[in-house]
Parts: sequence; C-alpha cells; structure tokens
Amino acid sequence: MKRHALVDLKLKSGDYPHQATVYRILDPLIAQHKQKTKVINPGSGSWMTVVTRDGQLLKADFSNQIIQCDHTKLDICIVDSDDNLLSDRPWLTTIVDTYSSCIVGFRLWIKQPGSTEVALALRHAILPPKGVTIKPRPIRLCGACYAEEPYHRIEWQYKEKIKCDRHQLSLLTKCTNCETPFPIPADWELGECTHCSLPFAKMVKRQKIY
Ligand SMILES: [Zn+2]
Ligand SMILES: [Zn+2]
Repeated sequence: MKRHALVDLKLKSGDYPHQATVYRILDPLIAQHKQKTKVINPGSGSWMTVVTRDGQLLKADFSNQIIQCDHTKLDICIVDSDDNLLSDRPWLTTIVDTYSSCIVGFRLWIKQPGSTEVALALRHAILPPKGVTIKPRPIRLCGACYAEEPYHRIEWQYKEKIKCDRHQLSLLTKCTNCETPFPIPADWELGECTHCSLPFAKMVKRQKIY
C-alpha cells in the first residue's frame, strides 16, 4: 500500500492515509463480502446455514431445528378436465428442513401464495400422514435415535408405533432405571430422566430388539 502511494502515485508522506486507517475501513467490508459469498447459493450444500432478512447468521445443528419456506413459479402449464389450458402457471410452496435439506411439506397452487398458503404447507409438513393418528401420551423415546441427534421424533407418538424403524428397537415409555414416565419433549433440556438423571442416550441398553 505504501509502495503504491509512493511509487505508483508519487505521493509524499502525509499525503496518503496510514495503512491501519485503510484497513479499519476495509475490514468490515471484507468480512461482509466473505460472509455473502459463503452463503450465496442456498441450493447447493449450504442449507446448513441461513441468513435472516436482518443479516443474522443461523446455523442448524440438527433436524427440525430450522425450517425454510420457499415459493417457485413452476415451468409447467396445467390443462383442466375440460381440456382448457389454464392461463396461469402453478406455484409450488416447499417447506425444507435446513439441516437435512429434506422437503418435509409442500403445496401446489394456481395463484401466487400468501400467508394462508404458507400456513397450509406448514400444516402438511407438521401433521402425520393421512390415516395416522397421534397419541400424545405416553411420551415415547428411542435412546439410539436420541444418542444420534438429541430431539424427540414426532413419529414416536403415532398411535400404532411401538418400535423404532431405524434401529429395530422397541420404543420406551418410561425411564429404564426408575420407571418415571418421560416429560413432554419441551422439557427435555438436559436429555435425561427428571427423577434419576439417567441420560436418555444411555437407555438404549435396555431397549429390546424388535
Ligand atoms: Zn431409533
Ligand atoms: Zn429415571
């Protein structure tokens, strides 16, 4: 920088700013640029981080922690049952889990989606599949799943669900040590039994192979 001022621009000392001054102005701009290039394309492997509208950087550490909603006008036309070509192209609203990039819910519309459509797409993402009912009690747990990623899986509360399909283990309904039923998942802050403090992840030892 000094060379550029003295040699290229032929400036004298005192006619150009000190490099510390230059970097004091440039540093935040460089940092901002770096951050932008890091998360510029959310579709190609950088779904793990999200930049909010106010510039906050969010990082997903596990599934169902951060979900994103997106709308796309599709490159297709629709012909109705009377063979009439509809003038508007359809819109697709997707709900994506940030950590896994999985589409967890979607909805197709003929008009531009608004907040109602977002709510319906979210409903599709959250609610169980058709014909499946949720049983809120008892709260169930697979210790092996919990050891992999510490959160409650909604499938455990499906009425007919008695085993973990991922690990082929029976689901637990109470602590394997003291038999205290599990609290609601919102209270699973420590990931352990509220009575005897046995970690959920360690309960896998007492789960029966199904
Ligand atoms: Zn499991
Ligand atoms: Zn216990």
